[in-house]
This record gives sequence, C-alpha cells and structure tokens, in this order.
Amino acid sequence: VNGLVKTFDVSAPWLNRVIERKPRQFVRAVADIDFSVPAGGCLSIVGESGCGKSTVARLVTGLFKPSAGEIRFAPGRNNAPLSAQMIFQDPYASLNPRWRVKNIIAEPLRELKLRKTAAEVTERVEELLGIVGLSASDGEKFPHEFSGGQRQRISIARALASEPEFLVCDEPTSALDVSVQAQVLNLMRRLQDELGLTYLFISHDMSVVRHMSDRIAVMYLGRIVEEGETEELFANPRHPYTKLLLQTIPNIAEPNRDREPAVGEVPSPLKPPSGCAFHPRCPIATARCSAELPAVRTLATGTRVACHLVTEDAVPV
Ligand code: SF4
Ligand code: MG
Repeated sequence: VNGLVKTFDVSAPWLNRVIERKPRQFVRAVADIDFSVPAGGCLSIVGESGCGKSTVARLVTGLFKPSAGEIRFAPGRNNAPLSAQMIFQDPYASLNPRWRVKNIIAEPLRELKLRKTAAEVTERVEELLGIVGLSASDGEKFPHEFSGGQRQRISIARALASEPEFLVCDEPTSALDVSVQAQVLNLMRRLQDELGLTYLFISHDMSVVRHMSDRIAVMYLGRIVEEGETEELFANPRHPYTKLLLQTIPNIAEPNRDREPAVGEVPSPLKPPSGCAFHPRCPIATARCSAELPAVRTLATGTRVACHLVTEDAVPV
C-alpha cells in the first residue's frame, strides 16, 4: 500500500509444482506468477483452457493449497489472505438447489455474524437483491426458477454479502448468451464503481476482458507471457501468443467465425515443451526458443513480456 495507488500484490515465485490432481501425478500448473491488481480496478488473466488461469484464481482465494511452493501477498499485508469471494462460471452448480434464494444470500451474513437479528438479515438480503437488479420477492424462489443470467446475479449478491475487498471471477459469463453476458458484465462494472470493488477476472475471451480490465495478464502453460495496461496490450501486443489470441476476437462482419486460434493446440501441461513453452506454435521461433526459457522483460510502456525476440526497441512482426 502506498499513498497514491493501493495495490494487492500477489506473488508465487517458487510455486513450481502444483495443482490439478491428475491420477498419480502432479502438474506444474503455474510457475513464477507475479502480478498486482490495482485497488478498485480490474486485472484480467486470459489464456486458453488448461493454461492455469483458474488455478491461479483458486490459489489466490485459498480454495486450492499448493502442493509445493507458496503464495505471497504484498509486503504490508503481513501475508494475510485477501478477503476474497469467488464467482464461478456455472452459477447453477454453485447455488444450493434446495435453498430459497434469500437463504443462499443470507448464509454468509449469518456465518460471519454480519447482521444480528433476523430482521436485519432480511433487510440486508433485500438490499443485496436490489443491488443486483432482482426484487425482494425473488428471494422466496429457488435457483431453478431463474435464468442463467439471473442465477449469476444471485451468485454476485451472495458474494457481496460478506463485503469482500476483492472479487475473483472465473469465466463468470462464458456460460451465458451474448446479450445476457453484456448485461451481467455491465452490472459488474457498475457495482465496481459504486462499491469500490477490486476484480481479478479470469476469461478466455479477449473481447470480454477488453471491456472489463485495466490491466491484462496473458498466461500460457502456467506462466504469464505478457502483462500490461489494457489499451496498450490491444494496440501494441508484443508476445506472439498475445497476437494469436487477438486474432480470435470475433468481429461483427463474421460473427460465427471459429474463435479457436488457428495454429495448433495447447500442449498438455503434463509435458510442457522445453524452453519457451510456446515454441511449437510460434510462427517466429528460433533454435534458442526450444533451448532457453525467456526472461521476463519490462518495457518502457510498463508492459512485461517473456520472449527472446522482443527487445525494447524492436518488436517482431
Ligand atoms: Fe516465440 Fe521464441 Fe518468443 Fe517463445 S521466445 S514466443 S518461441 S519467439
Ligand atoms: Mg477454467
């Protein structure tokens, strides 16, 4: 924390072997991840599935414990975990189907003793329903009575109930129709302004993260390969993988264009390629790329990038 810009720093420099438990093996799911999220802002982590972005989200919120390595929060936080809440891709799976919505939202209020009397709990639940654009009578219903977008509003209300400083959102709208997606994203932006929330936003969709983020970190096979300010990253992408991801943004002229990147598939995290893990897919790879892991370089623009061929003055075409 400093006087001008408050940041939540998260650093896991020795987090070398971790995560998703495949039968009898450990996957080095994330390595040397290090980022700052501006307080009241949004940092997005983007990448294709399997890159480790959901793992980072779960490690930050304490849902996963690393099997090796560690998570370090910013100096000054005394390594206290963030008061973070998580919003998941599938709101139906994360809402208890047998509970009325009012009880789902009231649970954190009761558990954390944030409201004393039943009347205070009811009042707060109604307030939270209103904040996310639902009515008090919606509290009497069950999750299956709502559409996907409304269910995500319920998840957001429940997450806000514990008054978190930080919301970690893992693909919160990717299961929704495009029009509903926009409504939920706009709600999240409005709540961010009104409540001063800080977001760590996880997505594979570059058009969504452009809309939401102040900064973007691009992950590939467990590492951040480029991180920078949103408009800078879109205007001047440096890493060949970032450029590939930008090609996957659908445009209005061809809305049904296949959004998967054209060049090959992501290798298995069980067997990451040597050197720069992107080299088998990289259009400009050289011999050095398969031999040596590129160091992270900070450019004059503040963008951090890990690629042998990106230098301060010369950008590969
Ligand atoms: Fe491509 Fe080499 Fe840069 Fe990796 S280090 S992104 S393989 S040019
Ligand atoms: Mg995921």
